[in-house]
Amino acid sequence: CGIVGYVGPLAPSNRPLEVTLEGLARLEYRGYDSAGVALVTPDGLASAKKAGKLANLREELAERPLPDATVAIGHTRWATHGAPTDANAHPHLSADGRLAVIHNGIIENFQALKAELDGTAFTSETDTEVVAHLLGRAYEETGDLTAAMLAVTRRLEGAYTLLAVHADEPATVVGARRNSPLVIGLGDGENFLGSDVAAFISHTKEALEMGQDQVVTITADDVRVVDADGTPAEGRRFTVDWDA
Ligand code: GLU
Repeated sequence: CGIVGYVGPLAPSNRPLEVTLEGLARLEYRGYDSAGVALVTPDGLASAKKAGKLANLREELAERPLPDATVAIGHTRWATHGAPTDANAHPHLSADGRLAVIHNGIIENFQALKAELDGTAFTSETDTEVVAHLLGRAYEETGDLTAAMLAVTRRLEGAYTLLAVHADEPATVVGARRNSPLVIGLGDGENFLGSDVAAFISHTKEALEMGQDQVVTITADDVRVVDADGTPAEGRRFTVDWDA
């Protein structure tokens, strides 16, 4: 029910994880049943997820700390498909474990898409996991996370805010939205994504609203929004007018 994304400097640190956990805490008011994070680290993708409150995820991270990272995504789940368990919590990973995705919303045609992925081992009961496997396959074909997101979202029906990261793209978070909110936070040498401005309000009040079916690619110093057909688009810029 809440989504946070962060890209900072190329030197790995604990800031991506800290910013993400703080953003998730600020989105707690919306209610949720599980939480999770994925990071891109110099050693590849790292992730943690837990049913229950953010405190459970923090405990897990204390017991099993994750390495410093350059980018992070975080999720609080409100289960629609599959019980609120650790396995069903987001992020969900591609078959090779190199791509992670988080999702708010419902993929209406996930059964049909799942049928296509015959032979793939699923580790959850969520509608979201098909997106992880489709993105993994699309990444193998394109070698580009934005291109993979454009190819996969064209095939999805329903409502989604999606964020994805890949071990081979340590400076990038890619997001997409349809019938579900995604806002871009513009920082100084770092950029943010959130399902709600609360996700990044303590870091920046400068934001960009994304239109329907758009895909965004953020790096530490660049934000690129495109329409579903890949044409460059402009988000609507606004300043958040409430205090953190
Ligand atoms: N449909 C997804 C699930 O059940 C996402 C739910 C949400 O919006 O948090 O895992």
